[in-house]
Amino acid sequence: MNKDLLSPDLLSPQDAEFAAPTARHRTIAVRVGTGKAAVVIGGDAPIGVQSMTNTDTADVEATVKQVADLARAGSEIVRITVDRDEAAAAVPHIKERLLRMGVETPIVGDFHYIGHKLLADHPACAQALDKYRINPGNVGFKDKKDRQFAAIVEHAIRHGKAVRIGANWGSLDQDLLTVLMDKNASATKPIEARAVTREAMVRSALWSAERAEEIGLPRDRIILSAKVSAVQDLIEVYRMLARRSDYALHLGLTEAGMGSKGIVASSAAMGVLLQEGIGDTIRVSLTPEPGGDRTLEVKVAQELLQTMGFRTFIPLVAACPGCGRTTSTVFQELARDIQAYIRDEMPAWKSKYPGVEALNVAVMGCIVNGPGESKHADIGISLPGTGETPAAPVFIDGKKAMTLRGAGIAGEFKQLVQDYIERRFG
Ligand code: SF4
Repeated sequence: MNKDLLSPDLLSPQDAEFAAPTARHRTIAVRVGTGKAAVVIGGDAPIGVQSMTNTDTADVEATVKQVADLARAGSEIVRITVDRDEAAAAVPHIKERLLRMGVETPIVGDFHYIGHKLLADHPACAQALDKYRINPGNVGFKDKKDRQFAAIVEHAIRHGKAVRIGANWGSLDQDLLTVLMDKNASATKPIEARAVTREAMVRSALWSAERAEEIGLPRDRIILSAKVSAVQDLIEVYRMLARRSDYALHLGLTEAGMGSKGIVASSAAMGVLLQEGIGDTIRVSLTPEPGGDRTLEVKVAQELLQTMGFRTFIPLVAACPGCGRTTSTVFQELARDIQAYIRDEMPAWKSKYPGVEALNVAVMGCIVNGPGESKHADIGISLPGTGETPAAPVFIDGKKAMTLRGAGIAGEFKQLVQDYIERRFG
């Protein structure tokens, strides 16, 4: 046997250090919203989950419904577009209806081009929103830019609101980019254009934040973001922001895309940054299928944070991928049903069973890894693979508790999960 395998040094301190996430980058805590639904971003607060509606904000009913759906799915802050008078006029009604429904989740107004005017003309909107998002590249042109940026910041000061200064690759401040590109072109050792663009993103966010402070917005009401659509650029831009400032940081890969592409790209980019301790809130910007479920972006954000071990939101179901040993669909159906059952029950379980979100469930396809994986879960089932005896051992707290047989295995296992939750968290 290889003598290293018998070494008494199981894990060196260096190995342990290498495996752990980097300590969280220190940022200033920002309070968003009021009452018990107020959220703290940055400082020691847990990494938050945000989302954005895709309804026309002027359509009060549709927007109220979607904000409520996103909030119930677990979004801790919801952003809505405020793009014209009708939308700004709708905002206080949206807020009021949400509060009547018991939805106190902070609402953020997303402003571009005419935010200064909309906030001035609709003071009830300015007051109803919990935070304003300004894109420094879209705040106005030429000499109006500074004036209009200052006007939005002054509204935030007057109404006691937080502001996210959100630079975006697709709407980067072109004046700033041109200056930096010209400087780079005349440098003795010019750097690549992409690196200049990254620098412009970072400077745009930081300069705007400094400007907001000069106008009088306290530092603990400023959050920064600098969203990019390419994974490596996003990682680099946020590393630069974290190195140069202690503003709270909102992470997100912009224009991530649809389905698995959007999920993979967002998780890859944000996973690296979160592991390095960078990021105080996240949003997964998925393009939904036409008529698709907008709350998917919240579920993905939660699963990203939970699978990385930063937060727990909902019991997770570990399931094997299946293979040639699972020729029936029983195991996939049970894994799907259990996950859906947990999601459906979670809103009620949250208050009834404190701590239930940490539960681990396993649904495995055959005897190869089934019993072993099920033993690691709080409650797990190992279904019979092709050619195995039609019996499904259930493991509870690492020990075989019983064996289920027959057509009712799915229903019986769900009941066992429910009983386990009642016993342990009730
Ligand atoms: S546990 Fe069994 S069914 Fe599942 S992937 Fe492994 S070998 Fe295949």
